[in-house]
Amino acid sequence: MTKALLLDGDALAVRLRADLASRVTALRQRGHSPCLATLLIGDHSASDAYVARKHADCAEIGITSKDIRLPHDIDPQAALAEIAALNADPSVHGFLVQLPLPDHLDAQTLIEAVDPAKDIDGLHPVNLGRLVAAAPGLRPCTPQAILALLRAYNIPLAGRSVVIVGRGALVGRPLAMLLSLPGTDATVTLLHRQSANSAAAIAAADVVISAAGVPDLIRGAMIKPGAAVVGVGISYDAAGQMVSDIAADVGQIARWVTPRHGSVGALTRAFLLSNLVTAMEQP
Ligand code: NAD
Repeated sequence: MTKALLLDGDALAVRLRADLASRVTALRQRGHSPCLATLLIGDHSASDAYVARKHADCAEIGITSKDIRLPHDIDPQAALAEIAALNADPSVHGFLVQLPLPDHLDAQTLIEAVDPAKDIDGLHPVNLGRLVAAAPGLRPCTPQAILALLRAYNIPLAGRSVVIVGRGALVGRPLAMLLSLPGTDATVTLLHRQSANSAAAIAAADVVISAAGVPDLIRGAMIKPGAAVVGVGISYDAAGQMVSDIAADVGQIARWVTPRHGSVGALTRAFLLSNLVTAMEQP
């Protein structure tokens, strides 16, 4: 039994999808029919499930979606040609290349082939560059989800010490940039495996966000009493069950904590659709 307040990302995602549904209705009334496409290469059961949820969310809020599947051994040039076709298709307003990719394909090459205006994952260097420049652009979805979750619970960020564990390109690095932008103003420490004194940084943090994918990496004894703790990293145990980066005992010490399952995933998908709708709302 946790004493901390649970950061319920699933409930927040329901509210965001309802808001998006009314924005989609407004777009349709102006003659625009939003369409999202996903490009899934090869057979990957987790990716299959993630893609299915994205299409279910689209159906719920009135966005048309296209589910494009390509064989696992597709030639890199043929994969790039599929991306070029989606870039050129005026009926598709945003799309993503589902990661991870088969080993023979380079993710960065494929991401850089996506038209930045259709890059609803927010991972194209143009959009990441706009994030660094604090200029308007499509932001990566999981970092947006984490910020929205912290804001929804009025967790103070301005001037506070936020520790992010894990410097991956999808979560840790862009999240560090997003939280430190003017207007959010967190003081961010980005920890990685080579960091000295990680324990001291975590113990002093007002907010700890773990995006490492290491089971039970953050334990109750490691954090400051009253801190907010967000689990993003996902791993799987021997039985195939999903395991959080956040140990169960964190809920006894923290003031706010994410549940051990769910929360950030549904919100991440909501921000994918938010990126699509926001891009279409531009004059
Ligand atoms: P990644 O593998 O690119 O990055 C993980 C980072 O954590 C790496 O930099 C690694 O060096 C670091 N790390 C590993 N062990 C560490 C340790 N003990 N101490 C400090 N750093 C350590 O992953 P990513 O794509 O950035 O995603 C991060 C995690 O978030 C993954 O587990 C991923 O599955 C998960 N994820 C969840 C959602 C969601 O919706 N819940 C969305 C995206 C990613």
